[in-house]
Amino acid sequence: MYDVIIIGAGVNGAFIARDLAKYQLKILVIEKENDVGDVTSCANSAIIHSGYDPHPNTLKAKLNVLGNAMYDEICRDLDVEFSRLGSLTLAFSDEEAEQIPFLMERAQKNGVPVQLLNHDEILSMEPKINKQVKSALFAPSTGIINPFELVVALMENAMENGVELHLNEEVMKIIKEDNCYKIFSQCGEYSTKVVVNAAGLFADQINNMIMDSKETIIPRKGEYFVLDHFSEPFVSHVLFSIPTDQGKGVLVAPTTSQNYLIGPSSHFINEKDDFSTNQDILSQVLVSAQRMVNKIPMGKLIREFAGLRAFHVSNDFVINHQDGFINVLGMQSPGLASAPATSKMVMGFIKTYLPFVEKQNYKSKRRPLYRLNRLESEERNRLIKEHPSLGNIVCRCEQVSEGEVVDAIHRLCGATSIKGVKKRVRPGAGKCQGGFCEPLIMRILARELKQPLNKINYDNQKSYILLEKTKGGGQHDEL
Ligand SMILES: Cc1cc2nc3c(=O)[nH]c(=O)nc-3n(C[C@H](O)[C@H](O)[C@H](O)COP(=O)(O)OP(=O)(O)OC[C@H]3O[C@@H](n4cnc5c(N)ncnc54)[C@H](O)[C@@H]3O)c2cc1C
Repeated sequence: MYDVIIIGAGVNGAFIARDLAKYQLKILVIEKENDVGDVTSCANSAIIHSGYDPHPNTLKAKLNVLGNAMYDEICRDLDVEFSRLGSLTLAFSDEEAEQIPFLMERAQKNGVPVQLLNHDEILSMEPKINKQVKSALFAPSTGIINPFELVVALMENAMENGVELHLNEEVMKIIKEDNCYKIFSQCGEYSTKVVVNAAGLFADQINNMIMDSKETIIPRKGEYFVLDHFSEPFVSHVLFSIPTDQGKGVLVAPTTSQNYLIGPSSHFINEKDDFSTNQDILSQVLVSAQRMVNKIPMGKLIREFAGLRAFHVSNDFVINHQDGFINVLGMQSPGLASAPATSKMVMGFIKTYLPFVEKQNYKSKRRPLYRLNRLESEERNRLIKEHPSLGNIVCRCEQVSEGEVVDAIHRLCGATSIKGVKKRVRPGAGKCQGGFCEPLIMRILARELKQPLNKINYDNQKSYILLEKTKGGGQHDEL
């Protein structure tokens, strides 16, 4: 019998698992994908929003502001890339400039420090912004984070403190029996006192398996461009358009890996697994971005992607509980920024069902990553002497070594797929998008996991890369 079963290992499930791991509880996380943080938590703008934008007194406003303030300590403890570089919400017309005082008032009500900037002040901070800019709202507490690292680090730390993780297992049925829940997946049946539904886009289905009050989640797609890193300075703050009813609009922002994100679009779709991108929609994204920054170096484009927001009709987060069943539902933006505070709210609910006795040996920190490409040469050389595989570069674009890939595979919550390695230490995330390094990463995965090459997938268990030998003998013998 488990004390708590968490359904879904996105950022919300992972935060809740880590917070629960501080207590003497038996905890299981069930995730249907082949890795943690593989759905919405890995396809978003990666902004830790300041919290000026959500309407006051909503859960979004409250949890965003609380969550934002918690990120410095979390990222220090878990060695996750995070930077508070501040945001500028830009007005280019008189009509847009009239919105800024309303946004300032909202910021004040939400308790978010902001500042009104004039044309000259904006351009002295960000010279690449179009000269027609009239005014801007500066929010210094806005941050950018590495969302892939975040979810992996949270789960790694949770597992180090005793949490069990089952990947590739889909919850298909839930029933209530006596004082506990029975959860059925294709792999088996589990009993638990408390269930946390953190299933993202599918949280409505999980809720509807057991609760009388039914829910609906509608996917709202956001499409992006990703630019490579380059040496000439581009933008150094998060640049937002003026928000509308559709959301926060298109942004231009650096990432923690010195790439640049341009997007997202916002439109409702029917399918929860449609991650395709569309040229017409991306063209509109580019037009919106070029209103802010004229000379976007599109020659540096390396990728397009789409993420799906889990829209609930309330347009707010739905976090509630009944009889030991807890919903974390409708977690669209700013769900990432809010996640640490969402988890604290869920802890409060769980405390009403279970005694919280602290563990004596709880570890709040995880072992830092090597991050070779960020080190001074002296320190790098010292590490390479200690671990020679750190001197063997396998990804030229992102300067990732074999030793870092091996470490990403063998840590708790380690990578088992090409995408899993890419999310953790970035081979394949650069200019060649894996063209050069992918075969090397496959071989390292096969060797370290003691699997034949054709068992190494790109992402989930159906994303085969190699099927069978097409010629006898030769270098693919290990197939
Ligand atoms: C385009 C876009 C931009 C965004 N930008 C930002 C931003 O800049 N800042 C911000 O704060 N927020 C942003 N967000 C929102 C943020 O990404 C989400 O709020 C957050 O990632 C949601 O995390 P989650 O854990 O609730 O869901 P998910 O990450 O989707 O995790 C849910 C997990 O549940 C699993 N699951 C589902 N059904 C089952 C089942 N039956 N059995 C087992 N497992 C199951 C899924 O496989 C998935 O891994 C953005 C979202 C989008 C789409």
